[in-house]
Amino acid sequence: MFGLKADWSLDIKQRYFSLGDYTAGEARWCPGCGDHGVLTVVQRICRDEQLLPEKTVAVSGIGCSSRLPHYMGTYGFHGLHGRALPVACGIKSRRPDLDVWVATGDGDCYSIGTGHWIHAVRYNMDMTVLVFDNSVYGLTKKQTSPTTPIGFQSNTHPQGAPLEPLNPLTVTLGISNVSFVAQTIDWNPVHLYETIKAAHNHKGFSLVNILQRCPVYSDNVFKHLQEDPSQLLLLTHEKGIHLEKSLLRLFPNQQEHDPLNMSEAYDIADQNVPVGLLYHNPDVPCYEDISSQGKDMGIDDKLVALNAAYDQFAI
Ligand code: SF4
Ligand code: MG
Repeated sequence: MFGLKADWSLDIKQRYFSLGDYTAGEARWCPGCGDHGVLTVVQRICRDEQLLPEKTVAVSGIGCSSRLPHYMGTYGFHGLHGRALPVACGIKSRRPDLDVWVATGDGDCYSIGTGHWIHAVRYNMDMTVLVFDNSVYGLTKKQTSPTTPIGFQSNTHPQGAPLEPLNPLTVTLGISNVSFVAQTIDWNPVHLYETIKAAHNHKGFSLVNILQRCPVYSDNVFKHLQEDPSQLLLLTHEKGIHLEKSLLRLFPNQQEHDPLNMSEAYDIADQNVPVGLLYHNPDVPCYEDISSQGKDMGIDDKLVALNAAYDQFAI
């Protein structure tokens, strides 16, 4: 369809989509794995927003979390290690009408996919990116990942991880054109739901870092946060994540934070374990909108534009 005006309209009969319409197969994650809760929340949002399954696509790389597309009753693409984002960007660039979701992990996105992560943030294409951050390579059985805490004993570092972990929040906030950065926790389904919903509502590249429990390989990494929620910092603001009063009671430590304030977002992410919306700028342009300029031009108009472009170099 290159160079031709594409018409992706589908003749879809109006009907109500139930949870079952977004479900496929039985999830084969370990019992107690945080991935189950994230999948349920994503399916509920699809149902609540009545997303067309025919127009929704879940993309992933490699890792435990990357099995998510198999369990969605939508289109899906289970890609290569670290390559979820270039696949998602490719889909979005040719099919901007599709609702693109990405499931990736701390190893998949923040290690082998680092280059793609940085440039995908900069391109700011409209997609919802969920990073299942369990601080370990789970699928390959407990190797040190970029977010593994220092001293954590893994199969690659039985004496303890020797390096300070990478902070995915501060790194993402430092990338030009960043437009949406949030963090949530898989063990609070209400906050998880509201955060992913806000990310999905944002037009642009929304990155949600999800602290995700892996009871098999990194069970002790988030235990202190679960047992003592005062070690988390809940971000509150009228422009932030929607919070019911009952949820506020669960977090002793709270801070009012305007998600447009980048320098405060950076300081919070650097010094705390935040839960909420760190940064949101709805005015950053999306690359698919920039690059689609002239897409629907006819041949004659294209020739005029081409000649005008060449004339710039006439001596
Ligand atoms: Fe989940 Fe960990 Fe099992 Fe992977 S290994 S499915 S992350 S509990
Ligand atoms: Mg992981």
